[in-house]
Parts: sequence; C-alpha cells; structure tokens
Amino acid sequence: MRISLPRPSLAQLRRLVARSPAAVALAKRIYRTPALQRTPLFRRFIRTRVAAADAAVRAGAPPQLWIETVLTCNARCTMCVHSERKMVGVMPMELFRRLVDEAAEWGIGSVCLSIYGEPMVDKRWLERVQYVRAAGMTYNFFSNASMLTPELAAAMLELGGWSEVNFSVNGFSQAVYEAVMPPLSRERVYGNIERFLALRRAHRGAVPRVTVSCVTLAENVHELPEFVRYWQPRVDRVSIADRTDWLGELKKTDRAAPVRGRLRVMDDAQWQMPCPAPWHKLYVYADGRVAPCCEDAALRQLILGDANDNTLREIYHGPAYAALRERHLSERRNSHRICGSCRVNWPWI
Ligand code: SF4
Repeated sequence: MRISLPRPSLAQLRRLVARSPAAVALAKRIYRTPALQRTPLFRRFIRTRVAAADAAVRAGAPPQLWIETVLTCNARCTMCVHSERKMVGVMPMELFRRLVDEAAEWGIGSVCLSIYGEPMVDKRWLERVQYVRAAGMTYNFFSNASMLTPELAAAMLELGGWSEVNFSVNGFSQAVYEAVMPPLSRERVYGNIERFLALRRAHRGAVPRVTVSCVTLAENVHELPEFVRYWQPRVDRVSIADRTDWLGELKKTDRAAPVRGRLRVMDDAQWQMPCPAPWHKLYVYADGRVAPCCEDAALRQLILGDANDNTLREIYHGPAYAALRERHLSERRNSHRICGSCRVNWPWI
C-alpha cells in the first residue's frame, strides 16, 4: 500500500522558514550560493516564476501596495540615510484618499502605510487609518515605536483591520540602542512595545501580528543572541535583517568584519537574476511618485510614474513598468542604470 504524504506548497514552506531567524539566514545563504545559481535547474525555476508573475500581471492581478504617508522621521539611525541628510515630506490627504479609494476599487485588500519615514510623526495618522478602514482595507506598517502611546494603540485596535506591525529596534542594551537610533530612548521604546503587547492581549487578539526587527551592525552584532532571547517569547516573529547601503546613498556603510556577511548585497560571483519587484510591488512616495521597490527609497531615481498625474492602474500597466519588466524578463537587468547597480536578489518563492 502506498502512503502519500501531503506536499507543502511554496507559501507554506515560506511561512515555515520565516518563523525562525536561523532558518531565514540559512535560506538566504543557500539562495545566494553562486554554485547553485549556475545550475540549469535553478535558472529554470527562476524563469518559470518570472513567466508566472508576468502572466498574472497580464491577467489583471493587482500588486502589493505601499503608501508613504510621511517621509519625515524622528530618529537618525546610523544605517539609514535620514542620519546623513534631511529628508522630509507628508502626503497630502487628498492624494492619500484618492489612492486608498482606487486601491479598494482595484481589489487591493491590504496596504502597507510606511516606506522610509516614521508613520506616527504624522498628526493625521489616525485619520488615515480610519480612512483605510472605511474603505474596507486592512493595513500594516513599520515603526520605531517611539510614539506608540497606549491611547493611540487602543484607538487603532478598536478600529480593527491592523494586520501586522514591524517594530524596528536596532539594539538591546541602552548604550547600543541609543548609539544606533539617536535621539530615541531605549527605555521609552521598550516600554511602549511591552505596553502595547499587554494591550493586545487584553484586546483578546492575535492581531496585529508583531515582528521585532534588528539590522545587523558592527555596533550590535555581539548582543544579537540576547536580543533574540528577549524578544522571541514576547512577539510573533524576530527578524535579524541584513543591512543595505541604499544603492550607495549611505556614505558610512560598514563593510568590515564581523558584519560583512550580513550586508544585504551580493558579491560579483552572483547572477543578477530577474527581480520580482516590477511584477509584485507598487510603492507611492509621499510626493506621489511611484517606484517598484524600496531599495531606491533614499536616492529616488527609479521612478515609474506619478500618482498626481495618473491612476495607480495606469502606472502599473503603463510603459515604464512594462519596459522595466521586459528588461528583467529578458535577463538584461545589469544593463539598467539603477537595477544594474542594485546588489539585491530578492527571492522568488
Ligand atoms: S533590482 Fe533592485 S532596484 Fe531594481 S527593482 Fe529590484 S530591488 Fe528595485
């Protein structure tokens, strides 16, 4: 008698790997192995995935949507370009409302409300959340948690639809945290997150799903095991991220040991494979310009449209997106001025 075991889908496999920081690190290492990338089987896998993504776009599948409600940030983290030059901006409410209406009408069920700023510095943050909820959408965002008061958190929990939050916490000890994320206070941020987690429990909910993430830096690498031990029992996911130099925009990038292996770049031996972003993603910056990814969020030169002039659908199905997809589809990514200099291979699973 043959016993057939259920085969996990790619999505299930991905979820399984994503639960463990060690499994994520191992998966990234395997994915970036040049010897693996050279195999016909790996290349066939990538081409199959690209063709499927292209067919889905042609069939009308909407992208994942990010809206930058504010570019301004109240921190000057050492791994972020906000620490080196002034970057400010707030998306006008009128544009925001139009984008949300259009997204809801397009069938986009969820939106990420942050790209390169701290969303809670926005005085109209709660009003925006209310608008997203009234449109029937759920939302998630990235935050440093420094302005997450219990009152604000309670109001958001009451509105519902808050599916996920990623708290960026780039240090464990006070000395390291405050050196990496000035001028924020470690005590205040850790306290805000703890109070929020208690509120979530009191609200009887498993949502929002909470991730605490930390970028690997020379300053914090020695305390990462302690960081993971502290947060793992408290939140749904702990993410230890690789750093990026934001396409060369960050001048102080630390390429030295012991964090060299955790720089979010590939070395020259790697195949610059087609990138999933032009098929899957649509980022609207605070001023309305549209990009396919956040790798260029500091430089802002990979612009594929302007939401002040066109609808999101027109942009996503327009000539600039199509030309970029064609460049990746035909494996000529390295001939593109921005994508050719981008050192990231986002995974296709
Ligand atoms: S290759 Fe890099 S810059 Fe180009 S779309 Fe992908 S992530 Fe963005």
